[in-house]
Amino acid sequence: MPELPEVETSRRGIEPWVTGQSVLRTEVRNARLRWSVDEEIIALRDRMVLSVQRRAKYLLLELDSGWIIIHLGMSGSLRVLAQPQPPEKHDHVDLVMSNGCIIRYTDPRRFGSWLWSENPYTSRVLAHLGLEPLSEEFDGHWLYENLRKKKTKIKPCLMDNKLVVGIGNIYASESLFVAGILPDRTAGSLNQEEAARLTKSIKVVLLRSIKQGGTTLRDFLQYDGKQGNFLRELQVYGRGGEPCLVCSTPIQLAKYGQRSTFFCSKCQS
Ligand SMILES: [Zn+2]
Repeated sequence: MPELPEVETSRRGIEPWVTGQSVLRTEVRNARLRWSVDEEIIALRDRMVLSVQRRAKYLLLELDSGWIIIHLGMSGSLRVLAQPQPPEKHDHVDLVMSNGCIIRYTDPRRFGSWLWSENPYTSRVLAHLGLEPLSEEFDGHWLYENLRKKKTKIKPCLMDNKLVVGIGNIYASESLFVAGILPDRTAGSLNQEEAARLTKSIKVVLLRSIKQGGTTLRDFLQYDGKQGNFLRELQVYGRGGEPCLVCSTPIQLAKYGQRSTFFCSKCQS
């Protein structure tokens, strides 16, 4: 599933191709995504793109008449086509741009969404979201204060969008390993120093993944159709039973609910 680094990779990929250009029209071949593609998007003609932003795992295309909020769902991806190419089965939406390129949305499982909004940051999909993990406000002091009274495990806390956004299972596992903190620790048991280490680790892991074009587990492709490379750099996720890269102890695999969690019982405490 695309997480924050994959969405940020998509944002950076399409930004130079669309900012300052106009969307001449949209071609919506299948409007039945997670929710129906909004009518305003289907009817869109000749609108300038002012910016491409990201909030959590949502891509926000700011036009001179409103905003398109795109969520990649489970298997969505955006690609830039320098010239028109015939659409394939899962290519559901195109943005036809004034510079001749096409931004093509592909989504085999159709759990993504394309919504229209006049004010996305206060809209029902974004208003309740927590802090951006790459923002300055997200630091050790903030995390410590917000975890202090929590009796749940630390890993699901990191994955709770109302607290901090865009950290899914892969990046939560990796960040806790880098920080040396066991995923089943009670969130409220982290001291200030551990909270500081954890926020730092989260930023490092996310930024490294963005630099590698994200992690491709299944369907995610970058804007140029290539796969992300961060998979090769994962230290614990997906490595159950394999030796820890730091201490050679076999990586443990535990299941909490439906989620697989990977950790090193020696490096993390
Ligand atoms: Zn280890």
